[in-house]
Amino acid sequence: MPDAQANAPATDWPDSHWLASTEPPAAFAPLAGETRAEVAIVGAGYAGLNAALELAEGHGIQAVVLDAGQPGWGASGRNGGFCCKGGARLSAAQIASRLGEGAAGEWAAFERAAIERVRDNLARYGIDADSGPEGELQLAHNQRAATRLRAETGPGGAQWLEPPALAERGLKGRFHGGLLSPTGFPLHPMKYAQGLVRAAEVAGVRLHGDSRVTAVAREGAGWRLATARGHVLARRVLWATNGYSDEAMLPWLAGRILPLVSAIMVTSPLSEAEREAQGWTSQIMAYDSRRVLHYFRLLPCGRFLFGGRGSASSASRAQAAFASVLRAEFEALFPAWAGVASERYWSGHVCLTGSRAPWCAEVPGHDGLFAALGWHGNGVAAASEGGRRIAPALAGGANCAPALAQHRPGRVVPPLLRPLALRAGMALARLADGPIGR
Ligand SMILES: Cc1cc2nc3c(=O)[nH]c(=O)nc-3n(C[C@H](O)[C@H](O)[C@H](O)COP(=O)(O)OP(=O)(O)OC[C@H]3O[C@@H](n4cnc5c(N)ncnc54)[C@H](O)[C@@H]3O)c2cc1C
Repeated sequence: MPDAQANAPATDWPDSHWLASTEPPAAFAPLAGETRAEVAIVGAGYAGLNAALELAEGHGIQAVVLDAGQPGWGASGRNGGFCCKGGARLSAAQIASRLGEGAAGEWAAFERAAIERVRDNLARYGIDADSGPEGELQLAHNQRAATRLRAETGPGGAQWLEPPALAERGLKGRFHGGLLSPTGFPLHPMKYAQGLVRAAEVAGVRLHGDSRVTAVAREGAGWRLATARGHVLARRVLWATNGYSDEAMLPWLAGRILPLVSAIMVTSPLSEAEREAQGWTSQIMAYDSRRVLHYFRLLPCGRFLFGGRGSASSASRAQAAFASVLRAEFEALFPAWAGVASERYWSGHVCLTGSRAPWCAEVPGHDGLFAALGWHGNGVAAASEGGRRIAPALAGGANCAPALAQHRPGRVVPPLLRPLALRAGMALARLADGPIGR
């Protein structure tokens, strides 16, 4: 992406709450000289790391993993930590009409398996990522959304809560009720990412930081990847760069993905009296029903995390402006906390695709070169499982990603028109959402 943040040097970790509340992340040496590998993975986030772990544990292949920053530097080290269903922007009916009923059921099973994958990773690798409590709440931002969400009560044990019932559970805000689903749990995203990094090291994965891939070329039966100081010659390659993808490296992707900015502010610790004053004392992860959605949760340390989309650029001027927008929206939804300080603010990139679903497949016309990306802002679980499912294909076997994720994305917005399209799209979506906090 032609964007300051996407090309930030490796050492520039965002000043996030996550960085401040865990051990300094591991720093890996850049790739140097020429290396050979059965598999090379570009991007060391949840997708790339899980693919590497699966290759090592299930196929005896020690991949070379390259990151332009350091492992976990992308969205995987800076997200909201909602380990939840999601990954596609399609309803079950839309998936069924595109690919049949079977594909809709298969996708739903993938979403559930993805959450269990993260749970299993935490247990298997002994990662303490401050996870829990179980469940996820979608809050209605207006009466129309309340009517729609109320009708979804039942499947998977989802329970509709009117505003008084929400208040009783310590979930009081300016909402018209909420749908509480029992599936999913929050975690500390950087602790999860760093735990995967440690597990990958133990499994013999060859990790390199500060190793931006700057050229990709066919060589013999494989691929040559070039970085500033080294080269990898690999039989197969996985492109796991999600919202940080440089389409110039992989022109087939150009215009088929749409990177978006998501941003988070975290307050100073809330006293018990402040939590009681707002009536929000639960640590359940929650998001609202707006198109330009907000996501939020009380952290185990007593701070409140409030995230939102709607900024068209991650350049520093745009981010300074969006920090004020996000703060105003936070105060509109949680008026009792208008005087509480914001301690930190940061942002990162998520990635949509032209198919409105993730894409985990071989790139057409690129024998042996695969992509796993496009988690639509919900990749904690989906990218973890997507990376695992594509690993057998990287080992020369079958691609185990669901049919929906193997469906080729069409074109969405040409890169040059993106800033304009994003600004117009956001403005229209905000208009349709209506005022905040009424
Ligand atoms: C602020 C924010 C909040 C979010 N909140 C949530 C949430 O609560 N729940 C949820 O499920 N999802 C959330 N997401 C989305 C989630 O974080 C991502 O979907 C997920 O982390 C994607 O993982 P990944 O491995 O595909 O990509 P990333 O973690 O983004 O990793 C991609 C990596 O590729 C590297 N890279 C790019 N180009 C190159 C190159 N040429 N050479 C080498 N390396 C390269 C980058 O340095 C980067 O580290 C959020 C995202 C953001 C930004």
